This record gives sequence, structure tokens and C-alpha cells, in this order.
Amino acid sequence: MDYILKSLNEEQKKAVTSSHGALLVLAGAGTGKTKVITSRIAWMIHDGIRPESIVAVSFTNKAAKEMQARLCSMIGEKAARKVELSTFHSFALKILRQYHNEFNLQKNFSIADENESLNLLRESIKEHNLEEILSLQSAAQKISFYKDNLFTNEDFNKQKNVFDGKIISKLFHSYNRRLRLFNLVDFDDIVYLTVLGFKNNPILLKTVQEAFSFLMVDEYQDTSFSQFQLICMLSSKSRNVCVVGDDDQSIYSWRGARPSIISDFLKTFPEARKVTLEQNYRCSPNILNAANSVIRENTERLGKELWSEQPNLHPVVIQSCENERDEALYVTENIESLKRNQPQLNYENIAILVRSNSQSIPIEQVFIEKKIPYTIHGGTPFFDRKEVRDLFSYLKLAYNPNDMNSLFRIMNIPARGIGISTLEKIKEQYIKNKKNQSQDTIISTIQKLSHTHKGISEFVNYWNAFGEKLKNSERKVDISSALRDCYENIGLKKDILMSSANMQIAQFRMDIVNRVLQVIEKLDLETESLESVIDALHLDKTRFDIAQETTNKVQVMTIHSSKGLEFPYVFLIGVEDGILPHEKSLDLESGIQEERRLFYVAITRAKYRLFISHCGFRKKGRASTKDMEPKPSRFLSAIPMELIEYKQTDPNSEEAKRMDAARKLFELFR
Ligand code: ATP
Ligand code: MG
Repeated sequence: MDYILKSLNEEQKKAVTSSHGALLVLAGAGTGKTKVITSRIAWMIHDGIRPESIVAVSFTNKAAKEMQARLCSMIGEKAARKVELSTFHSFALKILRQYHNEFNLQKNFSIADENESLNLLRESIKEHNLEEILSLQSAAQKISFYKDNLFTNEDFNKQKNVFDGKIISKLFHSYNRRLRLFNLVDFDDIVYLTVLGFKNNPILLKTVQEAFSFLMVDEYQDTSFSQFQLICMLSSKSRNVCVVGDDDQSIYSWRGARPSIISDFLKTFPEARKVTLEQNYRCSPNILNAANSVIRENTERLGKELWSEQPNLHPVVIQSCENERDEALYVTENIESLKRNQPQLNYENIAILVRSNSQSIPIEQVFIEKKIPYTIHGGTPFFDRKEVRDLFSYLKLAYNPNDMNSLFRIMNIPARGIGISTLEKIKEQYIKNKKNQSQDTIISTIQKLSHTHKGISEFVNYWNAFGEKLKNSERKVDISSALRDCYENIGLKKDILMSSANMQIAQFRMDIVNRVLQVIEKLDLETESLESVIDALHLDKTRFDIAQETTNKVQVMTIHSSKGLEFPYVFLIGVEDGILPHEKSLDLESGIQEERRLFYVAITRAKYRLFISHCGFRKKGRASTKDMEPKPSRFLSAIPMELIEYKQTDPNSEEAKRMDAARKLFELFR
């Protein structure tokens, strides 16, 4: 067991060796919180605890994967795979699928993505004539809020007299009814239904509690109310719960994370031991001191000062660039120079962090020109593109033959002369059947209607052939060949050619579909089933990363998705007022404080070198032709001069003169 403890400090050892009981580890960035979790799991397994009884959840799939990798290197892949390492959503989804009857769900329910959920919600708003008083976005936010706060229809009934309660109650009921009608759950439902199911079914809860008697939560500061309830329920009997977090890295208040989360834990588990960690093992002192200086400006912190014994080789670079292209060129030149100086350097060790996905577009363009290998995480990668969604809708409908959203998407792609009124008729018929307690699915409803319309009969014929191809669908090889057939032979490819403005665009779209098909073809033959591919599409696209060959590529990602990760070299771009802090956060002090925490998270991802940049000119949105002249982020002024090197593009160039203006502004902020 010595090998587990030998690389830990005294405080970390305390946390790792306390296998039983409640534990709160509260500590800053890079102090080894995640290391504590993985070492603690290894310790427990060596101590005789069954790996299958341990569940550890993290906030993102990428972070969960990172935990898995660290655990594998400590205890080997075989044992590590038995531990349930996932996100709240993936873990809860597993429970919903395994015990679907207890939750009144069909086994093959699917998850409605954001667009699909909004479509159903729009229909509900229309049904109750609420268009005038409630926008779609605000309705969606409210429903999400009430689900996270575990509201049931009865709770709404109690609030009948509250205006908002009355309206939302109708909407809530109608929207949920629609989801179930099409055998769907939405993203919030995954944890919501699990917790409500446990509340109503103590026997089920007991079964799951006994199956998972050791619970650990990484990134605890970003836990929402429903997730917290899930933690409490699962560990209320065993009391074996360990949460680790950092209040300074709480960056998900918009998704329900609350400041009271730490005190809530201590109220629920008053017996909890507490461990704090202050030595940072990740960042060089200049980087860490910059982070400390930034976060010190936030009020209402639990307060901690981190220190580091890492070597201090470089200052933090703050680069002023003319515009986004100039910034992308600057990043690329620096990457090339790093690579020249260290030919062995793996591109994976370099990360570009952005506040918003759209910032990666100019970077991508220059990377393509300069042949820098890169991968963009999250955002709207090719899996979210129209042509890919069309293709996958065939798969989704095959899995859940009641998935009306997918059906509407594909019935007329490729064109079969089926109009919206025909689709509405199919839907009406299906709903009528349901009211009459019929077991008919949407697919069987269509099959019965095929004689009424040539297009429908064409669709049904193809559908039967597609089903045949998928029949042995527990094997991915069938998924990929069925999809390829669908793309090449039924006219999806032709549809792309017909619907693209020119050949270049068509080629680009076809390349995307081909790349996705190649990814599916490369998935693990033995472990992937239709269900796991469908679930991964919704909850964990990182599952496709291996097939996308993300190794030896520069990692481009949002700051939010970089949480918990570390990189030797970090470029943090677009550090301007309006971007970081984001313009939407500027009205409230709490919003600015959250953005400051985001900046803190970004800085503390870097191990050896941190390059921060901002632009003097920026196009505002695609529609606008007007340039903006953003100011450097107000957060930069907190970083002491002695930690930084301030640079700008070629000091003798025309653009440098213009940059002088930006620099002056920067100094004004100090
Ligand atoms: P974050 O808040 O960003 O999630 P964290 O607190 O989870 O950070 P880790 O990612 O666990 O920190 O650790 C940061 C780095 O420090 C890792 O590379 C880890 O291996 C290393 N580390 C942690 N503890 C020690 C230690 N006692 N000795 C040497 N290295 C350590
Ligand atoms: Mg961590």
C-alpha cells in the first residue's frame, strides 16, 4: 500500500486513508483533490472494499475519463474498470435504464436534445396560448429550474394561487406528458426522475444504496440541488461519502450550483471530517501568484492562499494583438517556436482556452493554413451538424420507434413528397391510438398508413430494409454499415448535393459525414451496442474521441470544459471586457465574480507557461460589419507587473501604433 501513499503529503494521506465515514476536502486549484479521490479509491480496493461498490462522479466526461486514466495507472485497468467513474448524468442514466420499470419508463427511452426539448415545449406553450406572456427561452429556463428543485405536479398544485405557479404548472404538465408520449426524457429529467423515483420507492433506493455503498464527488462546488439530493439519498445509510471541491472554482451557477453547497453538506453530514490542502503541485509560482492575485479580489470567499514549490522559469505573457486573426497567428507562431525548441513536445500538452466556442473559428482557420494538428472539444462539433443529425435520426428512431422528433426530421429527407400536413396527420393518428390504449408505435402507425401515400410507402419500404441491416444491432459493425448504406444508398448524400449552395459546400458537408462514419466504424466492436452509441451521442461525445484520434493534437476547448484538467502550455485568448468577463455578466456583481472565478480556473490549468492575449479590434457578431474596440479585461489589472511580460505585435508596424491605444487603456485599468 506504500506506493499509494508515498507521493502524498500529510493532509492528503489523512484524506486517502479514511475510507469510511463522511469527508469534506476543501482546497484550491492543483492541490491534489482529484489525486486524493483516485488514491483513495486505490487505497479502498487494497483494503478489501469491492471496486463495484465504489462510485465516483465528476462534472464533465473528460474529467471522469482523466480520473479513470489516473486510476488505471495505479491499480491496473481490470480493477479500475469495475469502479463506477462517471458524471452525475451518466450514473443516473444507468440507474434509470437498469430499473426502468420502477421509474415507469420504457427500456428504450431516449434523451431529447436541446432542440428537440424546445420543439416540444413550443407545442405546449401553443396549447395553452401562452405565446404572449412567456418566451420559449424563459419557459425552458423555468422548467429546468423547477426540475432541478425537484418540483412535482403536486407541488405546483399547492401553489395554485401564485400566478407564475399556475402558468408553469400547466406548461410543466403538458411538456412532461409530451416527452413521455414520445418515450423521451430531457436532460434535466435524468437526475430529476432518479431522485423522485428514489423518494417514492424506498425498496429501490435501498437496493441501489447497497450496490453503491461508497460515494465520492469531485468538483463538488458545482453540484446542483437535485444532484446534492442524489448524493444525500445514496449515502444516507452508509454515510460513506467524500466530496472534494474549491469554492473559488464554482463556475456553474447558471446550471443550478449554489453558494450554500458546502454548508449544506456540513449540515447533512455534521460528523464529516474536514481536510484542507494548500500546496499547489501544478503551476509555476508566477502563474499561481497571478491566479492568487486575481481571485483575492472576490468577496465572500472561504479564503485560502496557495503556494507552490515548482521551478519558476517564465513570466506570464500578456500579448496585445490587433485582431482575431493576428491573435491566431501569434498563438500559432508561439506553438511553432515551442516545437522548434523542444522537438519531442507532444501537441497534446498545449491547450487553447476560449470563453465562447465561436472564438475558436479564427484559430481553426490559421491552424489549418499552418498545418498545426488540433482538436476542438465540445461546442458544436460535427456531430451537431444538420447532415449528421439527419443521419443519426434514422438510428435514434430505430432505437426508440416512438421518437416523433426524429421521424419528423427524416421522413422527407431525402425528399419523398411528404409535407408537414401528412406528418401532422401521422402524429394525430398516433396520439389518437395512444388515447385508445393502443400499443402501436409511431413506426407501426406509419406502416398502417403506407397505402395512403406513395412517399410513406417508400419510407416504410426503406425503413424495413434499414431494420434488417440493424437486426443484430448489439454489434457496432451493423450500426456502421447500416448508417453508411443509409447515407450512400437512400439518397442522403444526394440530398446534401441538392441542398448545398455550391459544390465546395457540398464537398465540405460530405467530408463531415464521412469523418463521422469513420468514427463509428472505429468504435470498439465488443463493447458498443446501439443503446450505448445512442446514449453517448447525448451525454458523452468524448466516447468518440478515441476514434477521432485526439492524440498529439493541440487541445482547443472552452474554459468551462477545461475544469479539472492541466496542461504544460496554455494560451488563454480573447481576455477582453465583454468576453471575459462576458457581456451578459456585467450587470450584477455576482456575475462578475463568477467570471473572475472562470478566469482563475483558466489560469490555474497551466503548469509551466501561460500566454494571455487580447485584441484591439474585433468584429461584433456575424451580421454586423462594425468593428469593436474592446478593452483588455478588467481582471488583468489585478496581476502584479513583476509576474508578467507585456508584449505586442511587431513594435514598428502600423498596427503597433494602433495597439498603443489599447495598451494605454490597459494601463488606465491598473
Ligand atoms: P483542480 O482544482 O484543478 O481540479 P486538483 O486539486 O484536483 O486540481 P490534481 O489535478 O489532483 O489537483 O493535482 C494537480 C497536479 O499535482 C497533478 O499533476 C497531480 O499529480 C500533482 N500532485 C498532487 N499531489 C501531489 C503530491 N503530493 N506530490 C506530487 N504531485 C502531486
Ligand atoms: Mg481536480
